[in-house]
Amino acid sequence: MSAEREAPGEDSIRVVCRFRPLNDAEERAGSKFVVKFPPGTDDQCINLGGKVYMFDKVFKPNASQEKVYNEAAKSIVKDVLMGYNGTIFAYGQTSSGKTHTMEGVMGDPHLQGIIPRIVNDIFNHIYAMEENLEFHIKVSYFEIYMDKIRDLLDVSKVNLSVHEDKNRIPYVKGVTERFVTSPEEVFEVIEEGKANRHIAVTNMNEHSSRSHSVFLINVKQENLENQKKLSGKLYLVDLAGSEKVSKTGAEGTVLDEAKNINKSLSALGNVISALADGNKSHIPYRDSKLTRILQESLGGNARTTIVTCCSPASFNEAETKTTLDFGRRAK
Ligand code: ADP
Ligand code: MG
Repeated sequence: MSAEREAPGEDSIRVVCRFRPLNDAEERAGSKFVVKFPPGTDDQCINLGGKVYMFDKVFKPNASQEKVYNEAAKSIVKDVLMGYNGTIFAYGQTSSGKTHTMEGVMGDPHLQGIIPRIVNDIFNHIYAMEENLEFHIKVSYFEIYMDKIRDLLDVSKVNLSVHEDKNRIPYVKGVTERFVTSPEEVFEVIEEGKANRHIAVTNMNEHSSRSHSVFLINVKQENLENQKKLSGKLYLVDLAGSEKVSKTGAEGTVLDEAKNINKSLSALGNVISALADGNKSHIPYRDSKLTRILQESLGGNARTTIVTCCSPASFNEAETKTTLDFGRRAK
């Protein structure tokens, strides 16, 4: 840990909100654009159904990927290079724009999302450093589905467990770690993981809406002059869809999946809200695998950014309210 910089305190949790445009299906169905962005509120307010919500930043439907990156994610890169841990996650109902926000169109300079931009930025910072530093960067890529951790870089690992190291810091035991030396290598690893994920399931869209995908970047550095070491971990999480599955109609696997997602998203909400309340005595990290894994990268000295993703359509108003409430609990 770097001692030069103060622990971040309450501000260690930032919550931003992004609305995507109305999509064709919503327009065809006659859905109205129901959210209002009150003018003069410095892009921090939303009015939905007469209720006003405040966030650290609100992104309107026309906000570019670059703007979202610069204003919601970019600052975490320096923190990670200074030895802090961090997490950025996208929360919202299916098709609210989570994957668009986290990943976007890989390789497209305008449409690429937060993950590729962070990867490029990390390497650019490193290339520009003048000190005599040695870096070791490794990445892992896994998903959590039905509370099981599946390695996306090794399909034979379908149920990895969470262990604690000698400092009682939880980690995913046996997960594949790939050392990488350039952004291109990271992008290859991501493509490999995505291809593995596709092979394992029949309907990728459905599957991705029911599992959390977790991309981990671990940056270790050593100053070769004074041997000072720093290590920062950054988790980039595309959460499972937060929508309620109606109890009528859903049965079997779908219902089990829904219960599981609900449980892990509430566990996450409870951890974040306990952290935001400054509750130091009991943070319920142990209530889900996701929160256990993220333990050292949420709260405390870590930087956390939540991007709540929303549809602006009247049809989705109830889900959007739930999403905004989740974001509000984190402040
Ligand atoms: P999720 O991952 O939450 O299920 P996606 O990111 O896959 O949702 O988004 C659903 C669709 O909406 C995709 O076709 C995506 O390209 C589009 N989309 C999402 N957000 C935006 C946005 N801000 N601007 C334009 N298109 C978007
Ligand atoms: Mg998605």
